[in-house]
Amino acid sequence: MKIIDKIYVDGRFTAPHGTATQDLYNPSTGEKIGIVHLGDQIDTDQAIEAAKKAFVTFSKSTVKERGEILQRLHDAILANEEELNKAAVEEYGSPISATKGRTRYAAQIFRDTKAAMESFEFEKQLEYATIVNEPLGIIAAITPWNADYTHICGKLAPAIAAGCTIVIKPSELSALQTQILTECFDQAGVPKGVINIVNGTGPVVGTVLTAHPDIAVVTFTGSTQIGRVIGSKAAETMKRVTLELGGKSPNIILEDADLQKAIPLALAIGFSNSGQACHAGTRILVPESKLEEIKSLIIENMKNIRIGDLWNSESYIGPMVSQKQYDTVQRYIQSGWDQGAEILVGGPGHPEGLGGFYAKPTVFVNVTPEMIIAKEEIFGPVLCVITYKTEEEAITIANDTIYGLSAYISSGDTEKAKQIARQIISGRVLINTAVNRESQSPFGGFKQSGIGRTSWAYGIDEYVEPKVIAV
Ligand code: ADP
Repeated sequence: MKIIDKIYVDGRFTAPHGTATQDLYNPSTGEKIGIVHLGDQIDTDQAIEAAKKAFVTFSKSTVKERGEILQRLHDAILANEEELNKAAVEEYGSPISATKGRTRYAAQIFRDTKAAMESFEFEKQLEYATIVNEPLGIIAAITPWNADYTHICGKLAPAIAAGCTIVIKPSELSALQTQILTECFDQAGVPKGVINIVNGTGPVVGTVLTAHPDIAVVTFTGSTQIGRVIGSKAAETMKRVTLELGGKSPNIILEDADLQKAIPLALAIGFSNSGQACHAGTRILVPESKLEEIKSLIIENMKNIRIGDLWNSESYIGPMVSQKQYDTVQRYIQSGWDQGAEILVGGPGHPEGLGGFYAKPTVFVNVTPEMIIAKEEIFGPVLCVITYKTEEEAITIANDTIYGLSAYISSGDTEKAKQIARQIISGRVLINTAVNRESQSPFGGFKQSGIGRTSWAYGIDEYVEPKVIAV
Protein backbone atom coordinates (compact mmCIF):
# COMPACT_ATOMS: atom_id res chain seq x y z
CA MET A 1 0.00 0.00 0.00
CA LYS A 2 1.48 3.36 -1.03
CA ILE A 3 0.66 6.54 0.84
CA ILE A 4 0.97 9.85 -1.00
CA ASP A 5 0.96 12.32 1.84
CA LYS A 6 2.86 15.25 0.37
CA ILE A 7 2.16 17.99 -2.10
CA TYR A 8 4.90 19.95 -3.91
CA VAL A 9 5.00 23.65 -3.09
CA ASP A 10 7.84 26.15 -3.44
CA GLY A 11 10.36 23.47 -4.40
CA ARG A 12 9.61 21.21 -1.40
CA PHE A 13 7.51 18.15 -0.67
CA THR A 14 5.29 19.22 2.24
CA ALA A 15 2.36 17.72 4.14
CA PRO A 16 -0.89 19.31 3.01
CA HIS A 17 -3.05 21.33 5.40
CA GLY A 18 -6.10 19.49 3.99
CA THR A 19 -7.18 16.39 5.90
CA ALA A 20 -9.32 14.58 3.32
CA THR A 21 -7.96 11.41 1.71
CA GLN A 22 -8.88 9.30 -1.27
CA ASP A 23 -8.28 5.61 -1.93
CA LEU A 24 -6.39 4.50 -5.03
CA TYR A 25 -7.11 1.24 -6.86
CA ASN A 26 -5.46 -1.14 -9.26
CA PRO A 27 -8.10 -1.16 -12.03
CA SER A 28 -7.01 -4.58 -13.30
CA THR A 29 -8.10 -6.23 -10.06
CA GLY A 30 -10.17 -3.61 -8.23
CA GLU A 31 -7.78 -3.98 -5.30
CA LYS A 32 -6.93 -0.94 -3.14
CA ILE A 33 -3.25 -0.05 -3.62
CA GLY A 34 -2.84 3.37 -2.07
CA ILE A 35 -4.17 6.46 -0.38
CA VAL A 36 -3.63 10.07 -1.40
CA HIS A 37 -3.92 12.99 1.01
CA LEU A 38 -5.75 15.86 -0.61
CA GLY A 39 -4.93 19.55 -0.46
CA ASP A 40 -7.47 22.22 0.41
CA GLN A 41 -7.97 25.96 -0.14
CA ILE A 42 -5.07 26.90 2.14
CA ASP A 43 -2.70 24.56 0.29
CA THR A 44 -3.82 25.96 -3.05
CA ASP A 45 -3.41 29.55 -1.87
CA GLN A 46 0.11 28.76 -0.66
CA ALA A 47 1.03 27.17 -3.99
CA ILE A 48 -0.27 30.24 -5.83
CA GLU A 49 1.72 32.48 -3.50
CA ALA A 50 4.90 30.49 -4.19
CA ALA A 51 4.29 30.69 -7.94
CA LYS A 52 3.65 34.44 -7.67
CA LYS A 53 6.93 35.02 -5.86
CA ALA A 54 8.88 32.87 -8.31
CA PHE A 55 7.34 34.65 -11.31
CA VAL A 56 9.14 37.90 -10.42
CA THR A 57 12.51 36.36 -11.28
CA PHE A 58 11.52 33.57 -13.65
CA SER A 59 9.67 35.92 -15.99
CA LYS A 60 13.01 37.67 -16.59
CA SER A 61 15.00 34.48 -17.28
CA THR A 62 16.68 34.05 -20.67
CA VAL A 63 15.73 31.65 -23.44
CA LYS A 64 19.06 29.91 -22.84
CA GLU A 65 18.31 29.38 -19.13
CA ARG A 66 14.83 28.08 -19.85
CA GLY A 67 16.20 25.83 -22.60
CA GLU A 68 18.53 24.22 -20.08
CA ILE A 69 15.63 23.62 -17.70
CA LEU A 70 13.53 22.05 -20.47
CA GLN A 71 16.44 19.79 -21.38
CA ARG A 72 16.89 18.70 -17.75
CA LEU A 73 13.17 17.96 -17.42
CA HIS A 74 13.39 15.81 -20.55
CA ASP A 75 16.40 13.95 -19.17
CA ALA A 76 14.84 13.43 -15.73
CA ILE A 77 11.83 11.70 -17.24
CA LEU A 78 13.96 9.37 -19.32
CA ALA A 79 16.12 8.60 -16.29
CA ASN A 80 12.99 7.42 -14.42
CA GLU A 81 11.26 5.83 -17.38
CA GLU A 82 10.84 2.37 -15.90
CA GLU A 83 9.34 3.58 -12.66
CA LEU A 84 6.97 5.88 -14.52
CA ASN A 85 5.87 3.01 -16.75
CA LYS A 86 5.31 0.72 -13.78
CA ALA A 87 3.07 3.25 -12.05
CA ALA A 88 0.98 3.82 -15.19
CA VAL A 89 0.45 0.10 -15.70
CA GLU A 90 -0.48 -0.46 -12.06
CA GLU A 91 -2.55 2.60 -11.29
CA TYR A 92 -4.09 3.39 -14.66
CA GLY A 93 -4.17 -0.08 -16.23
CA SER A 94 -2.51 1.00 -19.44
CA PRO A 95 -0.90 -1.83 -21.46
CA ILE A 96 2.90 -1.62 -21.43
CA SER A 97 3.56 -0.83 -25.09
CA ALA A 98 1.17 2.15 -25.07
CA THR A 99 2.55 3.19 -21.69
CA LYS A 100 6.13 3.19 -22.97
CA GLY A 101 5.13 5.34 -25.94
CA ARG A 102 3.35 7.86 -23.74
CA THR A 103 6.22 8.17 -21.24
CA ARG A 104 8.69 8.74 -24.08
CA TYR A 105 6.33 11.28 -25.59
CA ALA A 106 6.08 13.11 -22.24
CA ALA A 107 9.87 13.53 -22.31
CA GLN A 108 9.80 14.49 -25.99
CA ILE A 109 7.36 17.32 -25.27
CA PHE A 110 10.14 19.16 -23.40
CA ARG A 111 12.56 18.74 -26.31
CA ASP A 112 9.97 19.84 -28.88
CA THR A 113 8.97 22.84 -26.78
CA LYS A 114 12.62 23.81 -26.34
CA ALA A 115 13.04 23.81 -30.13
CA ALA A 116 9.81 25.80 -30.58
CA MET A 117 10.92 28.30 -27.94
CA GLU A 118 14.27 28.83 -29.62
CA SER A 119 12.56 30.03 -32.79
CA PHE A 120 9.66 31.78 -31.02
CA GLU A 121 9.34 35.50 -31.69
CA PHE A 122 9.40 36.91 -28.14
CA GLU A 123 10.14 40.36 -29.54
CA LYS A 124 9.47 42.02 -32.84
CA GLN A 125 10.93 45.37 -33.85
CA LEU A 126 8.70 47.51 -36.10
CA GLU A 127 9.49 50.97 -37.42
CA TYR A 128 7.98 52.90 -34.51
CA ALA A 129 7.32 50.24 -31.95
CA THR A 130 8.59 47.10 -30.33
CA ILE A 131 6.13 44.26 -29.78
CA VAL A 132 7.05 42.23 -26.73
CA ASN A 133 5.39 38.87 -26.09
CA GLU A 134 5.33 38.89 -22.30
CA PRO A 135 4.68 35.89 -20.06
CA LEU A 136 1.10 36.15 -18.78
CA GLY A 137 1.79 35.15 -15.18
CA ILE A 138 0.76 32.15 -13.14
CA ILE A 139 -0.71 29.22 -15.02
CA ALA A 140 -3.23 26.87 -13.39
CA ALA A 141 -3.15 23.46 -15.03
CA ILE A 142 -5.98 21.02 -14.34
CA THR A 143 -5.43 17.58 -15.81
CA PRO A 144 -7.34 14.30 -16.21
CA TRP A 145 -6.37 10.69 -15.46
CA ASN A 146 -6.26 9.24 -18.96
CA ALA A 147 -2.65 10.16 -19.77
CA ASP A 148 -1.24 11.72 -16.63
CA TYR A 149 2.34 12.31 -17.80
CA THR A 150 1.62 13.73 -21.23
CA HIS A 151 -1.13 16.04 -20.00
CA ILE A 152 0.97 17.44 -17.17
CA CYS A 153 4.09 17.81 -19.32
CA GLY A 154 2.08 19.25 -22.21
CA LYS A 155 0.91 22.06 -19.94
CA LEU A 156 4.16 22.53 -18.03
CA ALA A 157 6.63 22.68 -20.94
CA PRO A 158 5.16 25.79 -22.63
CA ALA A 159 4.86 27.49 -19.23
CA ILE A 160 8.60 27.11 -18.71
CA ALA A 161 9.24 28.19 -22.32
CA ALA A 162 7.10 31.31 -21.91
CA GLY A 163 8.68 32.29 -18.57
CA CYS A 164 5.52 31.57 -16.58
CA THR A 165 5.20 29.75 -13.27
CA ILE A 166 2.59 27.08 -12.69
CA VAL A 167 0.29 25.40 -10.17
CA ILE A 168 -0.79 21.96 -11.32
CA LYS A 169 -3.85 20.13 -10.04
CA PRO A 170 -3.55 16.62 -11.40
CA SER A 171 -6.38 14.14 -11.38
CA GLU A 172 -6.92 12.67 -7.95
CA LEU A 173 -7.11 9.25 -9.65
CA SER A 174 -3.47 9.35 -10.81
CA ALA A 175 -1.68 10.32 -7.61
CA LEU A 176 0.85 7.46 -7.71
CA GLN A 177 1.87 8.39 -11.25
CA THR A 178 2.01 12.10 -10.44
CA GLN A 179 4.20 11.44 -7.40
CA ILE A 180 6.95 9.87 -9.54
CA LEU A 181 6.63 12.58 -12.17
CA THR A 182 6.94 15.24 -9.44
CA GLU A 183 10.12 13.55 -8.21
CA CYS A 184 11.47 13.86 -11.78
CA PHE A 185 10.66 17.58 -11.81
CA ASP A 186 12.33 17.95 -8.42
CA GLN A 187 15.49 16.22 -9.69
CA ALA A 188 15.62 18.54 -12.71
CA GLY A 189 16.74 21.51 -10.61
CA VAL A 190 13.97 23.94 -11.54
CA PRO A 191 14.03 27.19 -9.52
CA LYS A 192 11.80 26.84 -6.48
CA GLY A 193 8.22 28.01 -6.84
CA VAL A 194 8.24 27.68 -10.65
CA ILE A 195 6.45 24.30 -10.49
CA ASN A 196 3.88 23.59 -7.76
CA ILE A 197 1.68 20.49 -7.62
CA VAL A 198 -1.36 20.21 -5.37
CA ASN A 199 -3.26 16.92 -5.19
CA GLY A 200 -6.91 17.56 -4.57
CA THR A 201 -10.41 17.31 -5.94
CA GLY A 202 -11.84 19.44 -8.72
CA PRO A 203 -14.54 21.03 -6.57
CA VAL A 204 -11.96 22.09 -3.93
CA VAL A 205 -8.50 22.74 -5.46
CA GLY A 206 -9.82 23.14 -9.02
CA THR A 207 -12.40 25.69 -7.98
CA VAL A 208 -9.88 27.79 -6.01
CA LEU A 209 -7.53 27.86 -9.00
CA THR A 210 -10.30 28.79 -11.41
CA ALA A 211 -11.51 31.67 -9.25
CA HIS A 212 -8.24 33.06 -7.84
CA PRO A 213 -7.46 36.59 -9.10
CA ASP A 214 -3.70 35.90 -9.25
CA ILE A 215 -4.09 33.12 -11.81
CA ALA A 216 -3.69 34.45 -15.35
CA VAL A 217 -4.45 31.34 -17.40
CA VAL A 218 -6.36 28.15 -16.75
CA THR A 219 -5.33 25.31 -19.00
CA PHE A 220 -7.60 22.32 -18.67
CA THR A 221 -8.00 18.91 -20.24
CA GLY A 222 -11.09 16.91 -19.35
CA SER A 223 -14.78 16.62 -20.04
CA THR A 224 -16.75 19.24 -21.92
CA GLN A 225 -19.11 19.38 -18.93
CA ILE A 226 -16.34 20.50 -16.51
CA GLY A 227 -14.79 22.65 -19.25
CA ARG A 228 -18.00 24.70 -19.34
CA VAL A 229 -17.87 25.20 -15.55
CA ILE A 230 -14.21 26.26 -15.68
CA GLY A 231 -14.70 28.53 -18.70
CA SER A 232 -17.55 30.45 -17.13
CA LYS A 233 -15.88 30.78 -13.72
CA ALA A 234 -12.59 31.90 -15.29
CA ALA A 235 -14.41 34.60 -17.26
CA GLU A 236 -15.29 36.43 -14.01
CA THR A 237 -11.65 37.46 -13.59
CA MET A 238 -10.90 37.54 -17.34
CA LYS A 239 -8.49 34.64 -17.23
CA ARG A 240 -7.27 33.26 -20.51
CA VAL A 241 -8.43 29.68 -20.94
CA THR A 242 -7.13 26.77 -22.94
CA LEU A 243 -9.69 23.98 -22.89
CA GLU A 244 -9.03 20.60 -24.46
CA LEU A 245 -12.32 18.78 -24.08
CA GLY A 246 -14.29 15.82 -25.34
CA GLY A 247 -14.77 14.29 -28.74
CA LYS A 248 -16.93 11.92 -30.72
CA SER A 249 -14.58 11.56 -33.63
CA PRO A 250 -15.78 10.26 -36.98
CA ASN A 251 -13.76 7.77 -38.97
CA ILE A 252 -14.93 7.76 -42.59
CA ILE A 253 -14.13 4.62 -44.51
CA LEU A 254 -14.48 5.63 -48.14
CA GLU A 255 -15.75 3.28 -50.83
CA ASP A 256 -12.26 2.96 -52.34
CA ALA A 257 -10.48 2.14 -49.05
CA ASP A 258 -8.48 -1.06 -48.75
CA LEU A 259 -10.65 -2.70 -46.10
CA GLN A 260 -7.95 -5.19 -45.10
CA LYS A 261 -6.02 -2.17 -43.81
CA ALA A 262 -8.85 0.24 -42.98
CA ILE A 263 -10.73 -2.06 -40.58
CA PRO A 264 -7.82 -3.01 -38.29
CA LEU A 265 -6.82 0.66 -38.37
CA ALA A 266 -10.37 1.73 -37.41
CA LEU A 267 -10.36 -0.67 -34.45
CA ALA A 268 -6.93 0.57 -33.33
CA ILE A 269 -8.11 4.20 -33.57
CA GLY A 270 -11.40 3.48 -31.79
CA PHE A 271 -9.91 1.41 -28.97
CA SER A 272 -6.91 3.70 -28.51
CA ASN A 273 -6.02 4.07 -24.81
CA SER A 274 -8.68 1.41 -24.05
CA GLY A 275 -11.24 3.84 -25.49
CA GLN A 276 -10.38 6.38 -22.79
CA ALA A 277 -9.11 8.92 -25.31
CA CYS A 278 -10.64 12.23 -26.34
CA HIS A 279 -9.42 11.68 -29.91
CA ALA A 280 -10.66 8.06 -30.27
CA GLY A 281 -12.45 7.47 -33.58
CA THR A 282 -15.65 6.12 -32.08
CA ARG A 283 -18.04 6.68 -34.99
CA ILE A 284 -17.04 4.46 -37.90
CA LEU A 285 -18.87 5.66 -41.01
CA VAL A 286 -19.05 2.98 -43.69
CA PRO A 287 -20.57 2.76 -47.20
CA GLU A 288 -23.90 0.92 -46.93
CA SER A 289 -22.92 -1.31 -49.87
CA LYS A 290 -19.93 -2.67 -47.95
CA LEU A 291 -21.59 -3.21 -44.57
CA GLU A 292 -21.68 -7.03 -44.62
CA GLU A 293 -18.02 -7.29 -45.67
CA ILE A 294 -17.03 -4.76 -43.00
CA LYS A 295 -18.98 -6.62 -40.30
CA SER A 296 -17.11 -9.84 -41.12
CA LEU A 297 -13.77 -8.03 -41.07
CA ILE A 298 -14.54 -6.45 -37.70
CA ILE A 299 -15.38 -9.84 -36.18
CA GLU A 300 -12.22 -11.35 -37.67
CA ASN A 301 -9.92 -8.51 -36.62
CA MET A 302 -11.29 -8.34 -33.07
CA LYS A 303 -9.73 -11.78 -32.54
CA ASN A 304 -6.30 -10.16 -32.95
CA ILE A 305 -6.88 -7.48 -30.33
CA ARG A 306 -5.39 -8.62 -27.05
CA ILE A 307 -7.19 -7.57 -23.86
CA GLY A 308 -5.61 -7.72 -20.39
CA ASP A 309 -2.15 -9.17 -19.62
CA LEU A 310 -0.87 -5.60 -19.38
CA TRP A 311 2.84 -6.44 -19.25
CA ASN A 312 2.62 -8.32 -22.54
CA SER A 313 3.82 -5.99 -25.30
CA GLU A 314 1.13 -7.38 -27.65
CA SER A 315 -1.73 -6.23 -25.38
CA TYR A 316 -3.82 -3.33 -26.62
CA ILE A 317 -6.78 -2.90 -24.26
CA GLY A 318 -6.71 -2.52 -20.48
CA PRO A 319 -9.40 -1.91 -17.88
CA MET A 320 -11.41 1.24 -17.26
CA VAL A 321 -9.73 3.53 -14.77
CA SER A 322 -12.37 3.19 -12.04
CA GLN A 323 -15.55 1.42 -11.02
CA LYS A 324 -17.37 4.66 -11.91
CA GLN A 325 -16.00 4.62 -15.44
CA TYR A 326 -16.81 0.92 -15.79
CA ASP A 327 -20.40 1.65 -14.71
CA THR A 328 -20.65 4.51 -17.20
CA VAL A 329 -19.56 2.21 -20.03
CA GLN A 330 -22.12 -0.41 -18.96
CA ARG A 331 -24.87 2.22 -18.97
CA TYR A 332 -23.99 3.24 -22.53
CA ILE A 333 -23.93 -0.38 -23.73
CA GLN A 334 -27.40 -0.82 -22.19
CA SER A 335 -28.58 2.40 -23.83
CA GLY A 336 -27.39 1.24 -27.27
CA TRP A 337 -29.26 -2.02 -26.80
CA ASP A 338 -32.41 -0.24 -25.55
CA GLN A 339 -32.42 2.11 -28.53
CA GLY A 340 -32.26 -0.76 -31.01
CA ALA A 341 -28.60 -0.95 -32.02
CA GLU A 342 -27.20 -4.43 -32.61
CA ILE A 343 -24.16 -5.71 -30.70
CA LEU A 344 -21.76 -7.13 -33.28
CA VAL A 345 -19.01 -7.95 -30.76
CA GLY A 346 -18.69 -7.51 -26.99
CA GLY A 347 -21.66 -6.47 -24.89
CA PRO A 348 -22.32 -5.94 -21.20
CA GLY A 349 -20.16 -7.24 -18.35
CA HIS A 350 -16.52 -8.24 -18.03
CA PRO A 351 -14.50 -10.00 -20.72
CA GLU A 352 -14.07 -13.70 -20.01
CA GLY A 353 -11.49 -14.38 -17.29
CA LEU A 354 -11.01 -10.71 -16.38
CA GLY A 355 -12.40 -8.86 -13.37
CA GLY A 356 -11.54 -5.48 -11.89
CA PHE A 357 -12.81 -2.63 -14.03
CA TYR A 358 -12.41 -4.38 -17.39
CA ALA A 359 -15.27 -3.78 -19.83
CA LYS A 360 -15.81 -5.80 -22.99
CA PRO A 361 -14.64 -4.00 -26.14
CA THR A 362 -17.93 -3.57 -27.96
CA VAL A 363 -18.88 -2.70 -31.52
CA PHE A 364 -22.47 -1.73 -32.32
CA VAL A 365 -23.99 -1.88 -35.81
CA ASN A 366 -27.41 -0.67 -36.97
CA VAL A 367 -26.61 2.58 -35.23
CA THR A 368 -28.38 5.74 -36.31
CA PRO A 369 -26.89 9.21 -35.74
CA GLU A 370 -29.60 10.23 -33.27
CA MET A 371 -28.92 7.38 -30.83
CA ILE A 372 -27.27 8.35 -27.53
CA ILE A 373 -24.29 6.06 -28.20
CA ALA A 374 -23.68 7.90 -31.48
CA LYS A 375 -23.90 11.35 -29.91
CA GLU A 376 -22.27 11.27 -26.49
CA GLU A 377 -18.64 10.71 -25.59
CA ILE A 378 -18.52 7.33 -23.82
CA PHE A 379 -14.81 7.31 -22.92
CA GLY A 380 -14.61 3.55 -23.06
CA PRO A 381 -14.16 0.77 -25.64
CA VAL A 382 -17.52 1.17 -27.37
CA LEU A 383 -17.67 1.86 -31.11
CA CYS A 384 -20.60 2.62 -33.41
CA VAL A 385 -20.79 1.61 -37.06
CA ILE A 386 -23.02 4.00 -39.01
CA THR A 387 -23.79 3.54 -42.71
CA TYR A 388 -23.92 6.23 -45.40
CA LYS A 389 -25.07 6.18 -49.03
CA THR A 390 -23.03 9.02 -50.54
CA GLU A 391 -19.84 10.89 -49.62
CA GLU A 392 -21.92 14.03 -49.04
CA GLU A 393 -23.99 12.13 -46.51
CA ALA A 394 -20.82 10.81 -44.83
CA ILE A 395 -19.54 14.38 -44.42
CA THR A 396 -22.90 15.52 -43.03
CA ILE A 397 -22.95 12.71 -40.46
CA ALA A 398 -19.29 13.35 -39.57
CA ASN A 399 -20.08 17.00 -38.82
CA ASP A 400 -23.37 16.27 -37.03
CA THR A 401 -21.87 16.53 -33.54
CA ILE A 402 -21.25 19.16 -30.88
CA TYR A 403 -17.59 18.07 -30.95
CA GLY A 404 -14.74 18.71 -33.38
CA LEU A 405 -11.49 17.39 -31.96
CA SER A 406 -10.32 14.73 -34.35
CA ALA A 407 -11.42 12.92 -37.49
CA TYR A 408 -10.08 10.08 -39.63
CA ILE A 409 -10.46 9.03 -43.25
CA SER A 410 -9.43 5.80 -44.95
CA SER A 411 -9.19 5.97 -48.72
CA GLY A 412 -7.17 4.63 -51.66
CA ASP A 413 -7.08 8.16 -53.08
CA THR A 414 -5.18 10.54 -50.80
CA GLU A 415 -6.03 13.63 -52.87
CA LYS A 416 -9.76 12.92 -52.66
CA ALA A 417 -9.43 12.24 -48.94
CA LYS A 418 -7.72 15.62 -48.51
CA GLN A 419 -10.64 17.33 -50.25
CA ILE A 420 -13.07 15.63 -47.88
CA ALA A 421 -10.83 16.52 -44.92
CA ARG A 422 -11.27 20.20 -45.78
CA GLN A 423 -15.04 19.82 -45.35
CA ILE A 424 -14.84 18.24 -41.89
CA ILE A 425 -15.06 20.54 -38.87
CA SER A 426 -12.28 19.23 -36.68
CA GLY A 427 -8.98 20.27 -35.11
CA ARG A 428 -7.25 17.58 -37.13
CA VAL A 429 -8.07 15.04 -39.81
CA LEU A 430 -5.77 12.05 -40.17
CA ILE A 431 -5.77 10.15 -43.46
CA ASN A 432 -4.92 6.42 -43.52
CA THR A 433 -3.14 6.72 -40.18
CA ALA A 434 -3.76 6.67 -36.45
CA VAL A 435 -0.81 8.92 -35.67
CA ASN A 436 0.10 12.45 -36.66
CA ARG A 437 3.88 12.32 -37.07
CA GLU A 438 4.22 16.08 -37.46
CA SER A 439 5.49 17.39 -34.10
CA GLN A 440 5.03 21.01 -35.19
CA SER A 441 1.23 20.58 -35.39
CA PRO A 442 -1.20 22.26 -33.02
CA PHE A 443 -3.62 20.12 -31.01
CA GLY A 444 -7.09 21.25 -29.99
CA GLY A 445 -10.70 21.34 -30.99
CA PHE A 446 -13.38 23.15 -32.93
CA LYS A 447 -16.89 23.66 -31.47
CA GLN A 448 -17.43 22.21 -27.99
CA SER A 449 -14.18 20.23 -28.12
CA GLY A 450 -12.49 23.27 -26.71
CA ILE A 451 -10.74 26.59 -27.00
CA GLY A 452 -7.10 27.19 -27.89
CA ARG A 453 -4.30 24.91 -28.98
CA THR A 454 -1.45 23.03 -27.37
CA SER A 455 1.86 21.72 -28.79
CA TRP A 456 4.86 23.37 -30.37
CA ALA A 457 4.77 27.19 -30.51
CA TYR A 458 0.95 27.10 -30.37
CA GLY A 459 1.24 26.11 -26.69
CA ILE A 460 3.66 28.95 -25.90
CA ASP A 461 1.31 31.39 -27.64
CA GLU A 462 -1.43 30.56 -25.12
CA TYR A 463 0.80 31.75 -22.24
CA VAL A 464 2.06 35.09 -23.61
CA GLU A 465 0.39 38.40 -24.39
CA PRO A 466 1.74 41.01 -26.79
CA LYS A 467 2.68 44.39 -25.35
CA VAL A 468 3.43 47.41 -27.57
CA ILE A 469 6.23 49.82 -26.64
CA ALA A 470 6.08 52.75 -29.03
CA VAL A 471 8.05 55.97 -29.28
P1 ADP B 1 -12.13 13.06 -16.05
O1 ADP B 1 -13.37 12.22 -15.95
O2 ADP B 1 -11.28 12.81 -17.22
O3 ADP B 1 -11.39 13.19 -14.76
P2 ADP B 1 -13.23 15.57 -15.60
O4 ADP B 1 -13.61 16.59 -16.58
O5 ADP B 1 -14.26 15.06 -14.67
O6 ADP B 1 -12.66 14.43 -16.48
O7 ADP B 1 -12.00 16.01 -14.73
C1 ADP B 1 -10.78 16.49 -15.26
C2 ADP B 1 -10.06 17.28 -14.21
O8 ADP B 1 -10.90 18.35 -13.79
C3 ADP B 1 -9.73 16.49 -12.94
O9 ADP B 1 -8.47 16.91 -12.45
C4 ADP B 1 -10.84 16.92 -11.99
O10 ADP B 1 -10.48 16.81 -10.63
C5 ADP B 1 -11.00 18.38 -12.38
N1 ADP B 1 -12.30 18.98 -12.01
C6 ADP B 1 -13.48 18.36 -11.80
N2 ADP B 1 -14.43 19.24 -11.43
C7 ADP B 1 -13.84 20.46 -11.44
C8 ADP B 1 -14.29 21.79 -11.14
N3 ADP B 1 -15.55 22.05 -10.80
N4 ADP B 1 -13.41 22.81 -11.24
C9 ADP B 1 -12.13 22.58 -11.62
N5 ADP B 1 -11.65 21.36 -11.88
C10 ADP B 1 -12.48 20.30 -11.80
